[in-house]
Amino acid sequence: MKIYLLGTCSGTEPMPGRNHVSWALDVNGRLYWFDAGESCSHTAYLLGLDLMAVRSIFISHPHIDHVAGFAKLLWCLRKLDSRHIGSMEGKTVDVFMPNPRLWPAQLEFMKEMENGFKINFTLNDRVIESGVIFDDGAVHVEALRNGHIASRESFSFRIQAEGKTIVFSGDVKSITELTEWLDDGCDLFLMETGHHKVADVCEFVKARSQVKRLVFIHHGREILEHYEDAIETAHSILGTDGRVQIGYDRQIIEL
Ligand SMILES: [Zn+2]
Ligand SMILES: [Zn+2]
Repeated sequence: MKIYLLGTCSGTEPMPGRNHVSWALDVNGRLYWFDAGESCSHTAYLLGLDLMAVRSIFISHPHIDHVAGFAKLLWCLRKLDSRHIGSMEGKTVDVFMPNPRLWPAQLEFMKEMENGFKINFTLNDRVIESGVIFDDGAVHVEALRNGHIASRESFSFRIQAEGKTIVFSGDVKSITELTEWLDDGCDLFLMETGHHKVADVCEFVKARSQVKRLVFIHHGREILEHYEDAIETAHSILGTDGRVQIGYDRQIIEL
């Protein structure tokens, strides 16, 4: 399976070469989409991904750096279908949102678009709760409600496919909220650094050899403004054998 990093930046002002956070998982030609920061569908399309293969979209929380590209992603599905660049006819896309208010509001917004956003495929809205939220036989997804900023919440996701496990932090108040999942081990840990120090995350992972690979995503200013120092710090703690990496837009990870 392949993981496509479509955006690796946290909610900063526009940054050269980096868009807000989004990534997609390709398993057997189906795409599973996690967060939808600005330009995610644009980037994916230009990377050669078949957007008609999108089957599920998981949104960790509704901050703009995680959802600004969501409407555009749905719009792209309709546009490519209506232009006969691909076909969505009869397909279903599950959309997982963190609270029940968001989907009706999003749909209302979409209906103001051309032709009232009439589509010939089904958008199946689902509300995320902690626990197993999705299993299509190929991909199994669990969600974990965690703290974030002030009283706001976000979800982390643990994804299992083809015998591999990926943990995606979403935005998280403390890495300790992921202790149980990381203690269980994973093949890939996609961890945000918008609210966390590189050294702290690396030390946490160093204590858990069962976390095989750490890729930073949702970069904060430590990485954006002091990249060389950040990678040196990461390597000094977790080594230079590829166990830790600072993710970049359009990066493709094979698991
Ligand atoms: Zn964020
Ligand atoms: Zn956030």
